[in-house]
Amino acid sequence: MTTTIIDPRDIWDAALGELQLRVTRANYETWLKHTVGVDLHDGEFVIGAPNAFVLEALEQRMFSLISETVEHVLGEPVNVAFRVTMSPNGADAVGAKEPVSAPSSRDIRPAAPEQLDLPPYVRPIRLNAKYTFDRFVVGRSNELAHAAAEAVAAKPGSTYNPLVMYSGVGLGKTHLLHGIGHRAIAMGLSVIYATTEEFTNDYIKAIREGTTEEFRDHYRNADMLLLDDIQFLIGKEQTQEGFFHTFNALHMANRQIVVTSDRPVSALRLLEDRIQSRLTGGLVVDMQPPAIETRLAILKVKAEQAGHDVPDTVLELLAERVYDNVRELEGSLNRVIALAHATDSPINVDLVARAIDDMVDALAIREVPPDVVLDTVAAHFGMGADALTGRKRDKKTALARHVAMYLLREDAKLRLTAIGRVLGGKDHTTVGHGCDRIAVQLGVDSTLRRQVANIRETLAAS
Ligand code: ADP
Ligand code: MG
Repeated sequence: MTTTIIDPRDIWDAALGELQLRVTRANYETWLKHTVGVDLHDGEFVIGAPNAFVLEALEQRMFSLISETVEHVLGEPVNVAFRVTMSPNGADAVGAKEPVSAPSSRDIRPAAPEQLDLPPYVRPIRLNAKYTFDRFVVGRSNELAHAAAEAVAAKPGSTYNPLVMYSGVGLGKTHLLHGIGHRAIAMGLSVIYATTEEFTNDYIKAIREGTTEEFRDHYRNADMLLLDDIQFLIGKEQTQEGFFHTFNALHMANRQIVVTSDRPVSALRLLEDRIQSRLTGGLVVDMQPPAIETRLAILKVKAEQAGHDVPDTVLELLAERVYDNVRELEGSLNRVIALAHATDSPINVDLVARAIDDMVDALAIREVPPDVVLDTVAAHFGMGADALTGRKRDKKTALARHVAMYLLREDAKLRLTAIGRVLGGKDHTTVGHGCDRIAVQLGVDSTLRRQVANIRETLAAS
């Protein structure tokens, strides 16, 4: 490869989109999130890490995965190298007490806690600069959560406290949480944002080092606590204890608490009762996968944000695909853009087919007649198609029927009433309900995701 004019940031963004789907969220948040594509030069791709600590971890733990992914995006072999850089990708490191008008907050580097002589929980707040309210597309699937987030940001501590936002993965919880954080910081509030993993690690460390008092003071002094992915508290009794006390202290002082969860509130019952009841004492809102119009609107925003003029036909084609996850939706756009750069070709419909390997399959599935969908789903669940059209309501039959409804809607593109007919005369509201259940489940249930993927593979091959 010779020196090129491809923007390494775009390539890395596309690679990050893929990596997000391949590593655990905790690994992504900790190691990859604040990296940036720095240089592509003579067959070498350089990735910038925010500090030496992250750099070492990336080199030692993720080297081959990263190389593989970058090569996949570029479509050719490349040597991957790492370097410590000053400004993290897309994420502005804003000191919590920093005035918003501080000269270019980008230049403030989120130093590794080790480098400063401070306890780990006193870290500069890292909010993704892209995750603001005005970059959040509101649709029916998320309007309640969005309204609640706006309300909480406008009047912290006095509307809904705590606010719990729940959805499947990649549907915008973190985005809204950061949105609240940006607003609060702009109002001069001191905000603590932490992933529950960070909170857990900090707390365990504080216990080990006998500094739990300092830990508590630090958290208690915040005007607002934003805690991402609270489901990580499940099974961690000791940390739940720490959370309980932190929560109470803040709540009693009317400080705003916002948490997100990618498990339904019912699953949060696995938390201690007293925490469960604290969490549901405010407002719990959920978000669903966006409908096609919202998907299209999101793609428009993302394309514009990336500074690319992407034709509507391309965006429509991408939006039409079945996504239960906005992160994947975004990833598909990033891949198209990166491929256009890498091959120096215009962004058009042909490119979409090349960029998204399974695109062709996805398009082909739509040609599959409804009865083939029924047969395939039924066979997958080890029953006859008549079970799907019948009235049996045991758990397995109901699940199979819901999956059939979902695929008939998403892949065969039938209307709800038509699906009802195909399934032996079911009401369209029943059908809509069944489809939605699967859509939600897919966000949280990897077994179901695999099952549906298998069925789709069979359909694509038929
Ligand atoms: P979650 O925390 O629910 O897993 P994120 O907040 O990380 O999801 O969202 C994943 C990606 O999708 C982010 O890049 C986010 O900006 C984007 N996203 C999700 N929902 C929306 C939306 N309604 N409008 C714009 N972007 C969205
Ligand atoms: Mg998140």
